[in-house]
Amino acid sequence: MRKATKIRIYPTTEQAAFLNRQFGAVRFCYNTGLRIMSHRYQRHGQSLSAKHDIKKLLPVAKKSRKYGWLKEADSIALQQACRNLDNAFQRFFDPAQKAGYPRFKSQRGKQSSYHCVGIQADGNWIRVPKLGPIKAKVHRKVEGKLKSITLTRTVTGKHYASLLFETEQAAPAPLKDVDAAGVVGLDMGLSHLAIDSTGHKTSNPRFLTQAAANLRRKQKALSRCQKGSRRRSRARLLVAKAHERLTNARNDFQHKLSRQIVDDNQAVIVETLKVRNMMKNTRLAKHIGDASWYALAAKLDYKAMEKGKRLVRIDPWFASSKTCHVCHHKMDAMPLSVRSWKCPACQTHHDRDINAALNIKHQGMIHLKAEGLSVSAHGGSRKSGMSPVAA
Ligand SMILES: [Zn+2]
Repeated sequence: MRKATKIRIYPTTEQAAFLNRQFGAVRFCYNTGLRIMSHRYQRHGQSLSAKHDIKKLLPVAKKSRKYGWLKEADSIALQQACRNLDNAFQRFFDPAQKAGYPRFKSQRGKQSSYHCVGIQADGNWIRVPKLGPIKAKVHRKVEGKLKSITLTRTVTGKHYASLLFETEQAAPAPLKDVDAAGVVGLDMGLSHLAIDSTGHKTSNPRFLTQAAANLRRKQKALSRCQKGSRRRSRARLLVAKAHERLTNARNDFQHKLSRQIVDDNQAVIVETLKVRNMMKNTRLAKHIGDASWYALAAKLDYKAMEKGKRLVRIDPWFASSKTCHVCHHKMDAMPLSVRSWKCPACQTHHDRDINAALNIKHQGMIHLKAEGLSVSAHGGSRKSGMSPVAA
C-alpha cells in the first residue's frame, strides 16, 4: 500500500536559491515543450508527444551551450516535467474531463519538482539530488520504502515536501457486505457544507466563513490596483496569504470531519459535482463552496480506501432534489428557494436537503448492489450518521 505525507521544509538561503533555479528549469522544460508542441501543430499539423518527443530533446539541450544550465537540475525532475505536460494534454483530449488547453506555468505561481532517485528522509531532514540535507519537520514517521519526494514552493514562499512511501502493510480487503444502517448519503447544501441522510447538517465553521470573507476583501482590493504597479504585487501577496490561510483551515477541518464520517460508516455516498461547472464558476462564494465539497470528497475517498471502506460517487445528473425518497415521484421543477416541500403523490413533508441526501444514499446502495455487495436492511445497533465535529 502507498502512503503519502506532506511536510514543511526549511531550506537555507543557498538551498532556497538552488531550489529556485531547479523550479525554474522544470518550468522551462514544461513551457518550452508546450511552445514547441503548439507551434508544430499550428504550423505543420504535426502532433508531438511530450513524454517521447519532448523528453528526447532534454539530453540535446543539456549539451548545447545555450541550455547547458539545465544540467544543474535533477534530470528526473526535468523528465517528470515532460510527463506532466503529457498528462495535461491527455486531460485536454479526454472528452470526459473537458479540461482546457495546457497553459504556461507562471514564475509567480506555485512551483514544484519531482524526485525519485537519490532521495532520503529522516526524522528532521530530507535529501534530494545535488543538495545537502534540508531541514524538515516530520510530524509522524511513515514506515516503509521512500518512493518519491515532490518539492513545492507556495506563492507565499513556503517550501513543502510530499513524501510517498510504499509500505509492507497490505491494503484492507474490500467490503463484501454492508449494513444499510452503515451507509450514509451526503449532499452539499446551500447553507451547509454537508447534509447527511440521517438528517445531520454540518456547516462550515465560523472561522472558515470569516477567512473566506477576508479573502474576498483582499481580492477586491487587488482588482482595484493598477496593473504592473508595486501596490498590485503587494496586494497579490496578501491575496495569496489569505488564500493559504483559508486552504489550511479548511483542510484541517475537513480532515477531522472526513475521519469521523469514515469511522462511523461502512460506505459513504456522495454526488459528484459537474466538474466543468466548477472550473468555469467565477462567483467566488459558489466557487469556494464547490472547491470545498470537491476537497472533502477527495479526503473521504482516500480515508475510506485506507480502512477498506467505500466512497461511491453517483452521477450528478441524478435528480436527487426533485425526487421524493418515499415514493420516487419526480417533481418537474424544484427552485433553489424551496427549502421544504410536500410530495403531491404520497403527501410526505420533505426537508429539501435531507430528502436529497436520502436519495443519494438510496442511489448509492443500488450502485453497491450492482457491484455484487450484499446490502442488509436490518442493522442491529450499529451507529450510523455522523456526530458533530468540534470545530
Ligand atoms: Zn412521495
